[in-house]
Amino acid sequence: MARYIFITGGVVSSLGKGLMAASLGALLQARGYKVRIRKFDPYLNVDPGTMSPYQHGEVYVTDDGAETDLDLGHYERFTGVSAHQGDNITSGRVYQQIIAKERRGDYLGATVQVIPHVTDAIKEFALADQGDHDFILCEIGGTVGDIESLPFMEAIRQLRNELEPDQTLSVHVTLVPYISAAGELKTKPTQHSVRELASLGIKPDVLLCRCEHPLPDGERRKIAQFCNVRTEAVIPALDASSIYAVPLQYHGEGLDGEVLRGFGIADAPEPDLSRWYDIVDRYENPEGEVTIGVVGKYVGLPDAYKSLNEALVHGGMANKVKVNIKWIDAEIFEQEDEEIAARLEPMHAILVPGGFGERGSEGKISSVRFARERKVPFLGICLGMQMACIEGARSSGHAGASSTEFGATDEPVVGIIEEWMSEEGLQKREEGGDLGGTMRLGAYDAKLAGNSHVSAIYDGATSISERHRHRYEVNSAYREALEGDGLVFSGMSPDGLLPEIVERPGHPWFVGVQFHPELKSKPFDPHPLFAGFVAAALRQSRLV
Ligand code: GLN
Repeated sequence: MARYIFITGGVVSSLGKGLMAASLGALLQARGYKVRIRKFDPYLNVDPGTMSPYQHGEVYVTDDGAETDLDLGHYERFTGVSAHQGDNITSGRVYQQIIAKERRGDYLGATVQVIPHVTDAIKEFALADQGDHDFILCEIGGTVGDIESLPFMEAIRQLRNELEPDQTLSVHVTLVPYISAAGELKTKPTQHSVRELASLGIKPDVLLCRCEHPLPDGERRKIAQFCNVRTEAVIPALDASSIYAVPLQYHGEGLDGEVLRGFGIADAPEPDLSRWYDIVDRYENPEGEVTIGVVGKYVGLPDAYKSLNEALVHGGMANKVKVNIKWIDAEIFEQEDEEIAARLEPMHAILVPGGFGERGSEGKISSVRFARERKVPFLGICLGMQMACIEGARSSGHAGASSTEFGATDEPVVGIIEEWMSEEGLQKREEGGDLGGTMRLGAYDAKLAGNSHVSAIYDGATSISERHRHRYEVNSAYREALEGDGLVFSGMSPDGLLPEIVERPGHPWFVGVQFHPELKSKPFDPHPLFAGFVAAALRQSRLV
């Protein structure tokens, strides 16, 4: 049976628990263990799919079509283990299942209660699908003391009591703030947070203390004494030079060693961290740099494009260059037409990412036109590909080309997908239907045209599988007009009905994809589209 590591956070939110879970998973993996990481989100949405990126950041989509928390992206990038629907649960999903069971009469007349019904459902989720994993890491969203997270804390308490004593471990992530007026690090918030956790019946075994200044030994001992843990189990976690340096740093501070000790494992193999040293070296010692403009809508909030940001970094690692990302608000180009040249001329490549809604769309279309006319490398992702097709249609005489996502149009170059085949059979949708969980989601295959640019990018592959999240599609009725204008449909769904990839053969590097390649990029295995795009930006940088 798998061992469980429960990761909670205290004092404040945004301490980087997700990154900590991903890093610990990676360190255990580097010692040869098989790991899986799960996220428990206490909010009442069934999933984050309908939340604004401003609320929640990116929605991370899994192969099996789940819309999940962005921390699952960190887990996947750090461990290479593909996440599934079963790796992210929310209070909303728990309650949805319980209420459905209650309506069916499955509780046989019982009063349905938080304890035991909600806590049992949470425990069931934690214990499900253990496979042959050595460790299952469970990260609890939010901060200890939140009302919403109480049932999750209670479920952990029960699990720690029910499983074998050496089968579970609690890691608590806290903040040790530096008070500059006093010139001191303060341990009191950590003490309070551990007391709060203890009042819920959970005694932490390892404390990971985020701090901006090195934690002196005296402070470490003080935390250990007041919080009832060994001094060695108080792990200082200073800010790292990059997220990819975090596993090495935590290993240096003894995190994985303490976790293994907590489980009573004395014979663990030493970790092989060579691949982490390699990517940190690639990241910290680039041999050149490129500047890439990302023209989007949520540019004020980097979390909204988390995976995209990381995939561009991976593309940089593949080419041993630093990628400077300039986040550009698409709306600027709608107000000031002349701004576009000033803003985009310094860019070595232009990327229009995924997005929803009309706001900023004209600015995105103008950016595509700039990239096409000036022969600047271009990558359009999901909405970005749709904008590339609308731009192509407009340039080939369809002046009113638009998407039905933005309202009624006589030239629907992009329209709602009414039907498609999934593993569950024929899917049907119409305008005005439910928004939650109804997009074309998850992994679907695409067939690539032989001799196309994109098949060369994918190393000669003729069939690929990528993750999707879209409700609209490029209208094949415009294929002839677009191909006449030089925009070739080089990737289609296997039944030949849904356009998946477009490219411009006469252009140095111009690709639009209906899927989200950024979701599958890993630092150790940069996605070929991002490696190729950054390589094209590098060539462009040598021209200008
Ligand atoms: N809004 C577009 C659609 O639903 C694009 C979605 C996206 O970019 N993820 O098809």
